[in-house]
Amino acid sequence: MNGKLIVANWKMLPESLAQAQEILEFTDDYLSSLSEKRELSLVFCPPFVFTEEVGKMLRTSHLEHEAFLGAQDVATEDRAALTGEVSGPMLTKLGVSYVIIGHSERRWKLGESDETVNQKLKAALRNGLIPIVCIGERTREGKFKEFLEEQVTKTFTGLTADEVDKCIIAYEPVWAISTNPGAHPDTPESALESIGVIKKILNSKFSIQNPMFLYGGSVNSNNVAGFLKEKEINGALIGGASVNKEEFVKILELILEIG
Ligand code: PEP
Repeated sequence: MNGKLIVANWKMLPESLAQAQEILEFTDDYLSSLSEKRELSLVFCPPFVFTEEVGKMLRTSHLEHEAFLGAQDVATEDRAALTGEVSGPMLTKLGVSYVIIGHSERRWKLGESDETVNQKLKAALRNGLIPIVCIGERTREGKFKEFLEEQVTKTFTGLTADEVDKCIIAYEPVWAISTNPGAHPDTPESALESIGVIKKILNSKFSIQNPMFLYGGSVNSNNVAGFLKEKEINGALIGGASVNKEEFVKILELILEIG
């Protein structure tokens, strides 16, 4: 993987495959127009129904070497009667290499417990998928550090140090996700404080020195540089702004300027 990692979480958008193609072509055109080698890796996480087609689009574009296919979720089991779920083996067969685990919308809107998140994380690792594990407090008030500590402990329970080392951690404070009422982006300083807390727990429990961190929560072209110029923040998980092709490319431009 090269440079910063940008993960596009498309959630339930775009509404058509044609629109997905537009975003990818716009991104491809921009990156292809650059004369210098770009130090950037991209992961596109489309809705499940578009996964196969988006995979084909990536493989046949100039993005082939820097863009990877991701999924927004994975089932806890590889083979089971679980209506509506999509298994790890199904994802790998489609060419998916990254999967978002424990997104706050799944945790807090769809009732996914830490135990379920932990099982999904194990399913991802079992199937050779790279987990992008979302961690984040619901509020900055009160004992948010204790909250983070508990969430990290339960999410990673039962994993070996080698397994934890394969994970990318997306620090996403729930209150900063753009679609939540009253959402506002975190500041780089406060994101770094939380990342420090998470890092300390992973270090004490698994002896992991340098986990890879993404920041997510209302990232846009106005604030991305502030986060990504911090050396502890290796990339971004982007929701809303990743389905707006002009805004997405502007974000990439700004990241490449940081170098
Ligand atoms: C997300 O969905 O992970 C996210 C960070 O969304 P947004 O960028 O829209 O806040």
